[in-house]
Amino acid sequence: MNHQKRLHDELTQVKSNILVMLSKSPHPAHQGLITTLKHTANNEWLDLAAKRLGPEYANLINRMTMLEAAVSQIDIGQYGYCCDCEEKIATALLQKDPATQRCTKCAIKRGSN
Ligand SMILES: [Zn+2]
Repeated sequence: MNHQKRLHDELTQVKSNILVMLSKSPHPAHQGLITTLKHTANNEWLDLAAKRLGPEYANLINRMTMLEAAVSQIDIGQYGYCCDCEEKIATALLQKDPATQRCTKCAIKRGSN
């Protein structure tokens, strides 16, 4: 299964997008935050970023949260199951987006992913 690799690759990508956005930020506090984040361990990174960054980072933070969730599901052997009804998520959906959290039925019910 290469989903794990895709999830890790995308996590790295999203993280560096956040750092690039921060480096262009006019807020002086963000420059200090870059240094802090570069020295922050993976498991605390997202918490810290979510707390310290504004709404303009919400999309990136949300995506990272989904990716992290999928990675921890792999760790505990729950990957690929719907988080609402616990049915298996269709392989095609996971191929399209390895961080998919819901089966088609539940995704439609919620009107989003
Ligand atoms: Zn479901």
